[in-house]
Amino acid sequence: MNSATRPAMLTIYNSLTRTKEPFRPLVAGKVRMYVCGMTVYDYCHLGHARVMVAFDMVVRYLRARGFEVTYVRNITDIDDKIIKRAAERGEKVGALTARFIEAMHEDEQALGVLPPDEEPRATEYMPQILDMIVALEKRGYAYRAPNADVYYRVRKFGPYGVLSGKSVDDLRVGARVEVGEDKEDPLDFVLWKSAKPGEPQWPSAWGPGRPGWHIECSAMSTTCLGAHFDIHGGGRDLQFPHHENEIAQSEGATGEKFVNTWMHVGFVRVNEEKMSKSLGNFFTVREVLKAYDAEVVRYFILASHYRSPLDYSNDSLDQAKQGLARLYTALKDLPAAQVVPETMWEEQFYAAMDDDFGTPAAVAALFSLAHEINRVRTTDAAIAARLGATLRRLGGVLGLLEREPEEFLQGSAPAGFSAEDIERLIAARLAARKARNFGEADRIRDDLKDKGIVLEDGPGGTTWRRL
Ligand SMILES: [Zn+2]
Repeated sequence: MNSATRPAMLTIYNSLTRTKEPFRPLVAGKVRMYVCGMTVYDYCHLGHARVMVAFDMVVRYLRARGFEVTYVRNITDIDDKIIKRAAERGEKVGALTARFIEAMHEDEQALGVLPPDEEPRATEYMPQILDMIVALEKRGYAYRAPNADVYYRVRKFGPYGVLSGKSVDDLRVGARVEVGEDKEDPLDFVLWKSAKPGEPQWPSAWGPGRPGWHIECSAMSTTCLGAHFDIHGGGRDLQFPHHENEIAQSEGATGEKFVNTWMHVGFVRVNEEKMSKSLGNFFTVREVLKAYDAEVVRYFILASHYRSPLDYSNDSLDQAKQGLARLYTALKDLPAAQVVPETMWEEQFYAAMDDDFGTPAAVAALFSLAHEINRVRTTDAAIAARLGATLRRLGGVLGLLEREPEEFLQGSAPAGFSAEDIERLIAARLAARKARNFGEADRIRDDLKDKGIVLEDGPGGTTWRRL
């Protein structure tokens, strides 16, 4: 679709203003976007997968809409949890993080998540982190406590609480000082932790130590994208305190506005509770991919709006599997063709996506298109083929429907029953029919059906799919 016919504006819900706003990048046509990535001490669970897939969808859509996007997603590779896990396992911190970075990349690739343009790691940005703390200290926002930790002086930053929508007084009520902390105010947060024996450490003006988590993201985003950029995203749980603290650090250090649009992805829930490591109710991506095709998991994530809670259950994944199978079934046996331009489905799809990345309505447009393909395929194969090309193209904007329909519909064979076995039975059935032994042919077909395999006889021969 050419942009001249597209509705003029993409709107995005901005967590900072709590409204949907027309999206206007700082530089026309170019988008700079930063997303908080993984802390790499374990395998990704479905909550992490949702954040990765949601922002992958955002980047793909912005590009489909003609924006030039620079997408930065960081890796936190130094942190209390990493140090603790490495010590528990008797492993070097670098070996542990390297292993889980590799695992994360494998999970991403399986889920069709494109690699970000830059993937900065905290340990590689130590000079920039230290520079930012120096700038904060010069401007009165940072202080070295008697225990040699360096803290951020929250009450000095007037707009603090702007992202979470809370006043400093409200926030102070819930703030706690942990054992060993040495703050002027319970809300102050650590920028630099003084080194403890045996921990990874870097030299600094305040003594050897390592950075706090929040300052890493301020330093990496500002270094990669500049002091002021368009979109900053992450999971909803990062809105406070992590992103609130990033604003305080970056704006405190540079004196400039930090980010125009803040985007937050909703939780994945299990039985109405947030899926998280701390609650122990999480499923790793690896576990889920043993039972479900990765594209089904991607579809499951995208069929809900990115800001809504996403309820995980086998039922909802089974439904996702059926939904995706319906779309692939519409594409089955369609020859390649040119896209029909300017269809109402395309209009519907883009209008849905322009409304704060409304993937549920965009997916509904794909179903409406699939329905039309099925309606016309026997009467007008050429139109069906061209609509099929549109369905593939729009699916591709979401990173879906990029495989051969047969490959998806046949899926992986059940245990002890390979695709070759099925093909052999189809050949045996064909031979039985040629010998006019219809009883035997029907028996083979019914046996397969009992095992969840449906045979379909068409002009090009017999194909099969899963029920
Ligand atoms: Zn972050």
